[in-house]
Amino acid sequence: MRATLLLRSTHRSGRILRVRRSRVPAKVTKEAEPENNNEQRREEETSNGSDPFSDMKQQFLHFKRDKYLANIEHFQSLAQNPTPKVDSRVCPSNILGLQPGEAFMVRNVANLVPPFESGFSETKAALEFSVNTLQVENILIIGHSCCRGIEALMSMPDEEDSRFISMSFIRSWVIVGKYAKLSTKAVAADLSFDQQCRHCEKESVNQSLINLLTYPWIKEKVAKGELALHGGYYDFTNCTFEKWTLDYEGIRSKVEGNGYSIKDREVWQ
Ligand SMILES: [Zn+2]
Repeated sequence: MRATLLLRSTHRSGRILRVRRSRVPAKVTKEAEPENNNEQRREEETSNGSDPFSDMKQQFLHFKRDKYLANIEHFQSLAQNPTPKVDSRVCPSNILGLQPGEAFMVRNVANLVPPFESGFSETKAALEFSVNTLQVENILIIGHSCCRGIEALMSMPDEEDSRFISMSFIRSWVIVGKYAKLSTKAVAADLSFDQQCRHCEKESVNQSLINLLTYPWIKEKVAKGELALHGGYYDFTNCTFEKWTLDYEGIRSKVEGNGYSIKDREVWQ
């Protein structure tokens, strides 16, 4: 069964590294033993497909129908919780129906990827391992609504005293997303703080996608077409999932170097 899962993963979607706060699936043994018939059917359905997201979309829609809408009061109460344990409400394996062997997952505060030229982080080690050793073919960075990490970033004074930042692990980490904050302030200054946070939750995903290209071994694989970089955004207040892909060729053709370009945007709802 293990071998089947690995094969299925390679056939249907390549392997996917997902960047979110770290966790270990709690029911690995149970989830690793799907019904034989289902296993075989899904093999047949997906072995010819090259889109890594076609199954993921169906699995998300199943989650929405069978879990979210079936327990709408529970999920709505979580969404309205004033002191939410946010990431406990946003479990990637749960919402996207991922099985053991399908995705190497990293979860961190505000789902940020630091640029190559910065200090050590666990996320960097995970990138090196998954890209160079596991040779994943897709990286998907997932942001989410009501992210307390992004809220912390957006709440920091613009001219933050570096000594003050160093006094807090959270501030020291979320400052990684400062350019997403600056660009949010530039285009959404007239919006409310909450609306700015919603904007920055997606903007930070795009900044992290750009940061991925600062890793020479990632950029090389992307340029060769061996690795694709994707963004995702889960809005758990209405249970929608938005996904998009970084357009590397589009970025290269830009005259000015700082912008990003995306393609293949979809909203699953
Ligand atoms: Zn978050």
